[in-house]
Amino acid sequence: MEKKIDELKWKDVLSDVSEELTQVSFNTWFQPLIPLTMDEERETIYLAAKEDIISNIFSRNPRYVELLEKSIKKIFKSNYRIIIKTMTGDEISSILKAESRAPAAATSIDKDNPYKEEFYLNPKYTFENFVIGPNNEYAHAVSLAVAENPSTAYNPLFIYGGSGLGKTHLMHAIGHEIMRQNPQLKVLYVSTEMFTGDLVKALQSAPSRRNTLVNAFKSKYRSVDVLLIDDIQFLEGKEQTQMEFFHTFTTLYSMNKQIVITSDRHPKRLRELDERLTSRFMGNMMADIQEPDFETRVAILRKKANDENVKIDDDFLDVIDLIAEKVKFNVRELESALTRVIGFSKFKKQKLTVKFAREHLTDIFSQKDADISCEAVKKAVCRKYNIKITDIESSKRNREYAYPRQIAMYLCRELTDLSFPKIGESFGGRDHTTVLHAYEKILNNIKINETLSEEIRNLKDDIQ
Ligand code: ADP
Ligand code: MG
Repeated sequence: MEKKIDELKWKDVLSDVSEELTQVSFNTWFQPLIPLTMDEERETIYLAAKEDIISNIFSRNPRYVELLEKSIKKIFKSNYRIIIKTMTGDEISSILKAESRAPAAATSIDKDNPYKEEFYLNPKYTFENFVIGPNNEYAHAVSLAVAENPSTAYNPLFIYGGSGLGKTHLMHAIGHEIMRQNPQLKVLYVSTEMFTGDLVKALQSAPSRRNTLVNAFKSKYRSVDVLLIDDIQFLEGKEQTQMEFFHTFTTLYSMNKQIVITSDRHPKRLRELDERLTSRFMGNMMADIQEPDFETRVAILRKKANDENVKIDDDFLDVIDLIAEKVKFNVRELESALTRVIGFSKFKKQKLTVKFAREHLTDIFSQKDADISCEAVKKAVCRKYNIKITDIESSKRNREYAYPRQIAMYLCRELTDLSFPKIGESFGGRDHTTVLHAYEKILNNIKINETLSEEIRNLKDDIQ
């Protein structure tokens, strides 16, 4: 059942979001959103925008969606996803007048079959829209294999890799393809947070309803043919949810239903996850996605540019190269830089050139690269000293590993915003004092050792 969105609460949502944004982006993109209705059962909030450019910016900029959903969660005390549709003023007022009537955004939903809610799956996240490069070709191939042969190719399939590298995209692509080839199969995509939220809601319900709701939860997840569960790392430390997931997993698995899981880490490094789970993940197909190389980044941007209504001339191609050089570790941010700069140039009615891009993408040209990850540092250091990532993460104390390890720890501290304990975690769970010691040692050595200082400079160039 849809109901009207409480205006005061909506104001609170906006004021909460505004704290995370610049005044300009808040005023331009968030303020004009019109709250229509909310559907508690479907955990969905429907919003309208009067201009395409506004709804487009949300469909292209997952960070904005995440920000909004986070604030909504805070204010409405429950998980909701948002759907934004462009509508005319008349359409909007007719929906607001007849609040009990379903909004236009929801009319396409087949109410009898919740598993076919296409909007669980982003229509843009298809195999056709996925650019293949050396960093993801394996993950792409096994995903396609699963999509074409659910329950027979690889089960479960475990995809892992850093944030913004295409895990969710591939997972949705699997969902789309399975539904296309086997419309009778029940495909359910769920984020680990939604799964947890569902369970918690059932467990915290009034005692008289609890049994019914817990059973409804169980049957919802155990009656699907394909379960796509995203960002499993969020199960870490949540014991009760892990146990429930474990039962869901084994039930589905024993019925030979396809399960696909994503994570931001290798199962071995999901330290606070029940070993019964991680060992099952590792027992089958695991595919990782790495950061894209320059050519792949350019290819992704070009593909993206084709979807935008822009003239692709030499200036534009230079802008693509510039962005691809600068944003290295996260496809989401890569795309968002391009979308933003295109948006700015349309808005200001100025031609998009390298100069214009430099002036308007100040964040990517000035930040103390928050985007750089420890993984990228480790990779560069290992390449330089010709050792393996596993060695740098291991506890081996020989100088040939220990010294590069200290350099890598130093660079992680210099180039990322991560704390000493977080860096320690990324180096095989070391104590933060070890990282601090390494940092100080290298810092002092640089001052007295010109060769080392040169090496560090080169490494920094390489990484940034
Ligand atoms: P993750 O789930 O790994 O954090 P996403 O799947 O959400 O990352 O990807 C972030 C954004 O980057 C999405 O908009 C996605 O479409 C895009 N993207 C990632 N990899 C590719 C690729 N190889 N080709 C095209 N788009 C990509
Ligand atoms: Mg994701």
